Amino acid sequence: MTKTMTFQAALSNGKTTLPDGTTVQVRRGDTRQGRVYVSAVAEFNVLEDLTNRLRRPHKAWRPMVLAALEQIGIMPTRMYWSQYAGCSCPCSPGFRLDCTETEYYAFWIHLNNAPTVDETKSGREL
Ligand SMILES: [Zn+2]
Repeated sequence: MTKTMTFQAALSNGKTTLPDGTTVQVRRGDTRQGRVYVSAVAEFNVLEDLTNRLRRPHKAWRPMVLAALEQIGIMPTRMYWSQYAGCSCPCSPGFRLDCTETEYYAFWIHLNNAPTVDETKSGREL
């Protein structure tokens, strides 16, 4: 078992690769409440970018994101999905963190082998 990284170590690394291949990048954010933006598709893809951003499988991502955060020493008191996490339009959905340590920080987490679309939700018409 690898030791749990501290948030400070993850910050100075810039990009941290966890044992399961998940990557975590941390940067100063522009909102007091911490944000987590998740990707599960490595390459830019028009379908993902234009129609599927309203269909993120956040219930499936949630335990994976919490596990990744825990590995860098972050255990929020609450984490919840928001379609408007990063913008006043629905272009930048993500999780919001209730956690004093992550105030003014944003995380970009790339999950490997995670679902990319919640097929029960309808997307935008192309
Ligand atoms: Zn927007």
